[in-house]
Amino acid sequence: MSIQNNLLNIKSQLPNHVTLVAVSKTKPVADLMEAYNAGQRVFGENYVQELVEKHEALPNDIQWHFIGHLQSRKVKLIAPFVNLIHGVDSLKLLHEINKEAQKNNRVIDCLLQIFIAEEESKFGLDEEELNGILRFITQNSEIYKNIRVIGLMGMATFTENQDQIKKEFQNLKTIFDKVSKQKTENCQLNTISMGMSGDYQLAIEYGSTMVRIGSSIFGNRNYNN
Ligand SMILES: *Cc1c(COP(=O)(O)O)cnc(C)c1O
Repeated sequence: MSIQNNLLNIKSQLPNHVTLVAVSKTKPVADLMEAYNAGQRVFGENYVQELVEKHEALPNDIQWHFIGHLQSRKVKLIAPFVNLIHGVDSLKLLHEINKEAQKNNRVIDCLLQIFIAEEESKFGLDEEELNGILRFITQNSEIYKNIRVIGLMGMATFTENQDQIKKEFQNLKTIFDKVSKQKTENCQLNTISMGMSGDYQLAIEYGSTMVRIGSSIFGNRNYNN
């Protein structure tokens, strides 16, 4: 199967309200270009340097999402162009994004990452931390005016156990439903980023509006090259 075929096949299965983020980490520019030529405009990358290089090399109507774990000191490198940062998991990081967005005269959209998995290795906030951050940025909206929290992001446990995954997706949806009612200038939650190659169909059943799909489009990743 070609990248184009994979992409069109996946797209044909997605409801209209679900955004496809083509996760292209480790893949060469030529592969992204193939997806681009098949109509894909939203790409997700995990590593700052790689994202910067691909942004420079590829057409400028691409929307770039950062989906990895972002270090505060690297925010400035992507702040001029990034369209959405998925994995924000601290007020410190949000503060830095706001600062760099301001320098670039931009408003940067962010998703707050919620910890829903059972694996210690995954990042994210619990519900209490989430509420604390949302309260803080809405109460200090004159400071935090260069960010906009537009939703939540989560990663399910890497497991074959469908019930486990369902439970975790349901959990994220429940948390989302509680916080999405409030609408302020910098806090307008309308996006749930959950679902990857192995579980996106399930994620959509449980309310996902944005799926991050890599290997089902581009093939397996080879980290050795
Ligand atoms: C790599 C990655 C994906 C894509 O994973 P696939 O299983 O290849 O679809 C999605 N989300 C995040 C955060 C990732 O790091």
